[in-house]
Amino acid sequence: MSDPIITFDHVVKEFKTRGRGANIARAVDDVSLTIDRGDIFGIIGYSGAGKSTLVRLINALERPTSGTVTVLGTDITSLSETKLRPIRQKIGMIFQQFNLFPHMTALENVMEAPIHVQHQSKKAARDLAVAELQRVGLGDRMDYYPSQLSGGQQQRVAIARALAMKPEIMLFDEPTSALDPELVGEVLNVMRSLAKEGMTMVCVTHEIGFAREVADQIVFMDGGVVVEKGGPDIIDHPTEPRFKDFLQHVL
Ligand code: ADP
Repeated sequence: MSDPIITFDHVVKEFKTRGRGANIARAVDDVSLTIDRGDIFGIIGYSGAGKSTLVRLINALERPTSGTVTVLGTDITSLSETKLRPIRQKIGMIFQQFNLFPHMTALENVMEAPIHVQHQSKKAARDLAVAELQRVGLGDRMDYYPSQLSGGQQQRVAIARALAMKPEIMLFDEPTSALDPELVGEVLNVMRSLAKEGMTMVCVTHEIGFAREVADQIVFMDGGVVVEKGGPDIIDHPTEPRFKDFLQHVL
């Protein structure tokens, strides 16, 4: 049964661009789509297609120029920062860069938000952080500082940190793009296991094989527009010429 958790209704996002004259870039151009609870939603496309902007609209890091974004049953299009706070706490976000605190161990990084945002006791936060680090396979690295960890391990700490907030939605914006190729697999494995556990996940990814394997829905974006949308089989059977071209470049 469908259970919408994220809805875009005719969403447009424009940016003013630098340079002479009043230049406007339309990063997202009239996108309407629905993501159901438990869905793994893959977003693919060339650089500059509008993928990041689309994901950032989900936790209101960007606000639409027009149209409506509904998340977890609330219209967040022009919701105040204060009212957004409880919704944002239910949305974890993983970026290309890991953004860990360099002066804190893996454990301390994961404990930080449960203590300071959710006001949990240190003991409860520590137990939670241990469990989340074990969940991402880093039970033996908890006392390491980010500089002592590989990129793949740092990204897994970032995922554990997001999971410690018990999110209902996880957003991934090219989580493996900054990693050496041999470290990509360990991060994808953690994402695979999250998907199996039923987490709602929105993933901008260059890993087309991964998208085909785990995604319930895939969209191909170009020029801010959703050019093609469907199940993972659209990768093997693209219909739009622009999507066919893209796949020929990346596969
Ligand atoms: P992608 O994630 O597919 O690479 P983005 O969503 O980052 O694409 O960008 C889509 C378009 O919007 C690009 O042309 C980009 O230059 C523009 N854009 C994105 N963010 C901004 C911004 N903060 N200011 C101006 N232009 C932006």
